[in-house]
Amino acid sequence: MRAGVYRGPSRIDVEELDDPVLGEGELRLDIAACGICGSDLHYYTEGWMPVGTVLGHEFAGVVSEIGPGVADVAVGDRVTINGIIGCGVCALCRAGRQNLCPDKRGPSRGAFAERFVVPADAPVYRLPDGMATDTAAFLEPLSTSLEAVRRAAPDLDEPIVVLGLGTIGLGVVAALEALGATTVIGVDLSGLRLATARALGAEVVVDGGSEDVVEAVSAVTGRSRQLRYEFARAGTVFDCSGVGRLVGVEVEQLVRAGGTLCVVSLFEEPVALDFNPLVRKEVDVVGSWAYTYAVVDEAFELLASGRVDPAPLVSHRFGLEDINAAFAAQMDKDHSVKVLIEP
Ligand SMILES: [Zn+2]
Ligand SMILES: [Zn+2]
Repeated sequence: MRAGVYRGPSRIDVEELDDPVLGEGELRLDIAACGICGSDLHYYTEGWMPVGTVLGHEFAGVVSEIGPGVADVAVGDRVTINGIIGCGVCALCRAGRQNLCPDKRGPSRGAFAERFVVPADAPVYRLPDGMATDTAAFLEPLSTSLEAVRRAAPDLDEPIVVLGLGTIGLGVVAALEALGATTVIGVDLSGLRLATARALGAEVVVDGGSEDVVEAVSAVTGRSRQLRYEFARAGTVFDCSGVGRLVGVEVEQLVRAGGTLCVVSLFEEPVALDFNPLVRKEVDVVGSWAYTYAVVDEAFELLASGRVDPAPLVSHRFGLEDINAAFAAQMDKDHSVKVLIEP
């Protein structure tokens, strides 16, 4: 099969690889679509992956072969998977927090290729009739977004701010809308991403490049005061931006007293934060990392039922041969949202 093999910074070569023989419980998929993730961009440009790796973990495809012992999936089924697999026996797995398992594996990579072998113990999701195959390629990123929503547990009747509208921030917007949020305020610098947030149902969008974000959010939420701090009254703020200097603004100036900041981003540098407004406003800060099995089940249901339609996120599609051009398109944040590879 042909596969896009990482050969060093900013270089993926499409090479012919052998198809491995399937082991007990394994499936082979013909990959229909695989999205490029923000993490893939780091691996690609900064060389975080060993040379020889095949990236790609946001995918769906058609079962083309089943290994020994597979009973519940048939050739021709369209499927996607949960590629983060907990050990199943530790205290965190038993508490349903497989994303925090010290022995977890994944996400399963290798889907920038014509074919992919599903690990025997990966949870597999069969697509119902009427669900587009590439919709299922969004299960992985939507699960990351939905985990953040479940961790933050926002009051859906209060204004909610989502800062940073990449795939994860847009997924937070889409999940909040599907769950019935009344006022979602999306903030980004890219006109295309703001328009995409609108298409996903965001009631308000704020261009952080040309507008004062605190003023614009306050115009929706009203303002409040606690000691010497004056701030907007968002009940929950999601940081999906990864811009460290914004965290202080979120804590001090955007979230209401007693509100919640949920951080879904990773940061390239440690974030300096004045804790006094956090203490005096009793802001709850929660981190959110990947997704639990229960959240993936719920995310799949949102996609399968059509309550979340990720179609507005797809800005580009490329064949496998053009994978380097696809990465260039994904890196151009002003002109792309999600780039799909269709091998
Ligand atoms: Zn990803
Ligand atoms: Zn475990």
